[in-house]
Amino acid sequence: MNKKMGKEHIKIINQYAGSFSKLILIGRILAGISAIIALVPYYYLWKIIKIATEGKNIQEIKSLSVYTVLVTILALLIYIIALFCTHIAAFRIQANMRTDLMRKIVKLPLGIFDDEGTGKIRRIVSDSTAATETFIAHNLPDKTVASVTPIGLLFLIVAFNWKIGLFCMIPALIGFVCMMSMMGKDMQEKMKEYQNSLGIMSSEATEYVRGIPVVKTFGQTVHSFTRFKKAIDNYGKWTTDYTIMLRKPMIAFMSCINSIFMFLVIASYIFIGADVVPKSADILNIMYYIIVTPLITVALTKVAYSGEAEMTLIDAVNRVKSIMEIKPLNDTDKNVELKDYGVEFKNVSYAYEGSTRNALNNLSVNINEGEHVAFVGPSGSGKTTACELLARFFDTKEGEICIGGINVKNIPDKQLMKSISFVFQDSKLLKMSILDNVRLSNPDASEEEVLNALKQAQCMDIIEKLPEGIHTMIGEKGTYLSGGEQQRITIARAILKNAPILILDEATAFADPDNESRVQQAFEKMSKGKTLIMIAHRLSTVSNADKIFVMDKGAIVEEGSHTELMSSNGLYKRMFDEYTRSIEWKVGAQNG
Ligand code: ADP
Repeated sequence: MNKKMGKEHIKIINQYAGSFSKLILIGRILAGISAIIALVPYYYLWKIIKIATEGKNIQEIKSLSVYTVLVTILALLIYIIALFCTHIAAFRIQANMRTDLMRKIVKLPLGIFDDEGTGKIRRIVSDSTAATETFIAHNLPDKTVASVTPIGLLFLIVAFNWKIGLFCMIPALIGFVCMMSMMGKDMQEKMKEYQNSLGIMSSEATEYVRGIPVVKTFGQTVHSFTRFKKAIDNYGKWTTDYTIMLRKPMIAFMSCINSIFMFLVIASYIFIGADVVPKSADILNIMYYIIVTPLITVALTKVAYSGEAEMTLIDAVNRVKSIMEIKPLNDTDKNVELKDYGVEFKNVSYAYEGSTRNALNNLSVNINEGEHVAFVGPSGSGKTTACELLARFFDTKEGEICIGGINVKNIPDKQLMKSISFVFQDSKLLKMSILDNVRLSNPDASEEEVLNALKQAQCMDIIEKLPEGIHTMIGEKGTYLSGGEQQRITIARAILKNAPILILDEATAFADPDNESRVQQAFEKMSKGKTLIMIAHRLSTVSNADKIFVMDKGAIVEEGSHTELMSSNGLYKRMFDEYTRSIEWKVGAQNG
């Protein structure tokens, strides 16, 4: 393990532990003391063998046996106190880590929470903090014991016959070197990949199990779960890579630590001699070594495994650090006065973190208050990015986006969120009642207001078929809604929020024909008098818009009403003609 990294991680852990870090130190010292005390019985054992081989003073053997039991109990008690200390510190560290992470998460830019990001963050909050807790509570005292024991054993072995003792240490030393090679930087990288793939596989597995009712109820195929299959294959690959990398040093390590006994035989042959009759002192020492040397094997194996636990800890702390280091968007407290709810993009360019290509290129768009506009264009042309920047999922680096003449960066987060409603293409409902799900956008709303919003969103057919109406819990007792139904509930949520700016992202992507017409009606009702920005693939849904912005490669290539654009013979007309052909083809195929 890289030393500098070790210090940095210890510093982070101590910060989370606060005054409890002393308990970690006390725990480790006590674990070390218990390891030394636990070796005392081996000295008694030597004495017992000595008395037994000399055949005298049986009474002393009895008292030594009693001491052995008492000292073992004492070592155990001290170890329990050590564990108690490390557990208290570990629980505190875990609690502090989780609290800090949760505080940080609410301040993160919304764009961090894309599909993959949500699972990743969840795993860091639950799994990485739990891994840290396990390491501090269990692995750290174990590691102290595992490190102190071989040193103590070395003293015990060398004390009785230093030549044989040192000779037996040769395989232990080679084993130690092999063990260190298993903890290098490369290994740590592999461990990280392995942990990543394990995390992804477990979250995909959850999605898979969660999705089974949807697959069964709505006749989707299991092929919707190719991501799960990919995650399993990826996990298989990393596990194999990790195992192959460990194979040689692990074989060498296990061979060395298990060959100590063989070295003992060779040492006895060399240092005592094969042709001489051994003296009783030599017989005593060899018998003693036969009993004690396997302990070195056990201790070194423990050190090796504690090294693996340490790599897991480093990985866990790094993950927690990666979240804590994300810069939150700057926020102000004081509400600002917006002259209206018109939206303006002024020469906005934006590239995602790590991407060399701009998702938006010098985008300039003016949308008046109350206007209904649509962004259309090929997939990847930047429609979603533009809307996400407006809602400050991320901040623009070039150009500015204004609402009512004020740059969104200068509008307090709460005020901005109150001004914009977003209906996403993959609208999510939480595992709570429909009432609470809708109320998320306006916690003070009465049940009647929620019902009203649901009515406007054309959701009453959904509510009527549910056993407990709006009090039905989503996701429990087999209550699952189709994509289109979920979307209508989230529209009700947006209606209840009643924000002056409305963004509908791929809003009808999930809807079946029946749902689509209902969703469409709901949209019309909710967008009356509001500034509406639609992102749509189905061009039929945007032809009524006041203005259509046609995007390509992050820039506006055409703008105007449907009629104007159709007469201009540009990208929009080509897209619309293609769309009409595809509809005709579908209808033709159905009729045929
Ligand atoms: P559209 O909504 O028109 O399909 P997007 O705004 O989603 O387009 O994407 C614009 C470009 O930005 C695409 O090239 C896409 O690959 C890229 N992009 C979108 N989201 C991300 C992201 N989270 N990280 C990196 N690149 C992204």
